[in-house]
Amino acid sequence: MSAPHVDLFVIGAGSGGVRAARMAAAAGASVAVAEEARLGGTCVNVGCVPKKLMVYASHFRDEFEDASGFGWSTPPADFDWPTLIRNKDIEIQRLNDIYRRLLEGAGVEIVEGRASLESSARVAVGERRFHAERILVGTGGRPRRPAIPGSGLALVSDDVFALGELPERVVVIGGGYIALEFAGIFQGLGVQVTLVHRGDLPLRGFDDDLRTAIRDAMSERGVELRLGCEVAALHRCAAEVVATLGDGTALATDTALFAIGRDPNTRGIGLEAAGVDLESDGTIRVDEFSRTSVENIFAIGDCTNRMNLTPVAIAEAMALVDTLYRKRPRAMSYADIPTAVFSQPPLAAVGLTETQAREESARIEIYRSSFLPLKNTLSGRQERNLLKLVVDRETDRVLGAHMLGPDAAEIVQGLAIAIQCGATKTQFDATIGIHPTTAEEFVTMREPLPDGT
Ligand code: FAD
Repeated sequence: MSAPHVDLFVIGAGSGGVRAARMAAAAGASVAVAEEARLGGTCVNVGCVPKKLMVYASHFRDEFEDASGFGWSTPPADFDWPTLIRNKDIEIQRLNDIYRRLLEGAGVEIVEGRASLESSARVAVGERRFHAERILVGTGGRPRRPAIPGSGLALVSDDVFALGELPERVVVIGGGYIALEFAGIFQGLGVQVTLVHRGDLPLRGFDDDLRTAIRDAMSERGVELRLGCEVAALHRCAAEVVATLGDGTALATDTALFAIGRDPNTRGIGLEAAGVDLESDGTIRVDEFSRTSVENIFAIGDCTNRMNLTPVAIAEAMALVDTLYRKRPRAMSYADIPTAVFSQPPLAAVGLTETQAREESARIEIYRSSFLPLKNTLSGRQERNLLKLVVDRETDRVLGAHMLGPDAAEIVQGLAIAIQCGATKTQFDATIGIHPTTAEEFVTMREPLPDGT
């Protein structure tokens, strides 16, 4: 039997692959998508969605604690991890089904199994073969394990979502957003958490004021921070996992979790043989139109390691479909992409950090506000919010907005529109606040910090 021909063969039904497949089919292309695991990819199954559900679960602890200052007396709360996992799984299955319906409704053929390239125009999935005019690689990434003794004794983020029971103690290894989010989830659920990170501050790439503030807030909440430390080895000792740190000290725990980064899923699927250039870390090299070194092979999302976020993978897919199937060629812009960390407290940012802005210009003004939110007056919680604007004194443009505190992600999403539109500080100041809110601080900060503060 001859191999069927498709206009576009998509490898990976994750955030980017599903969007590209659906939109290309809607534009008239014949499309097949291969998926070796579950539809929806990382975000739906082992990323954004289940993570955020767990963040919600762990937040209730704060609410119970804060309630008494407002007159509530609550019975001692009890938490059941298997219930959370079961309900989360039901929701994920619902989303998997929606993805299936969306793809099938658009006329996309779903091919279950691991795809690999036999040439630049031929894809194999198990026994099946496809001829493709174009191939799109959207294979995402997977959690990294370090090459240290006993590394297999630790979990990675994928494992947490299927964990049978909640441990009493967890050592989280890493200082990026996934490490902080899991540290917050576990701590909120009553687990004793230690975070080991080789840097002096977590969240490299975020504004230093936020990094310092989240370090202090996590520590205040009871997360033990071992900064400037690396885990050199893990070994099992009876029921415990023992982490040996670079300084020779040992940490005994029930569960260790590596959250030290992710590697692209690009090896062993015939990319190199087809002529696709990879970086030494396996990232697929693409041009601004997501085209690889092979004319008819494209790549989007985490496997290209441009900005590893779901909305970015989706936006790359939309730009690609416009370029290839709608006669509207366009490159994706990576400027002013807002991002959040659902740590506890959460933080979010858009635009330049103070350090980045100062590298580009000497005319930077900083507006900063650190204050106790109204809710914390009666709750007695001492946690402060931090808000910060980075402004170009000459053009008056707001170059960056940064926030740590409840609802940071919801607030910064709105600010991202203003910054994307090139809003000036004068326009921020002319905006009337909504009182009493935390967000109104962004339009009422009048005095820049003295230079050098
Ligand atoms: P993926 O969604 O990873 O999809 C790739 C798919 O390809 C997978 O389903 C995989 O099974 C499949 N595949 C791989 N190889 C093959 C093959 N050879 N054949 C067939 N199928 C294959 N982003 C946010 O924006 N916000 C968040 O809050 C957020 N939280 C996160 C939390 C965690 C714990 C993690 C791990 C990630 C999080 N992310 C978040 C990142 C986000 O999940 C990714 O950026 C996004 O999923 C990338 O989409 P993608 O299409 O590139 O790949």
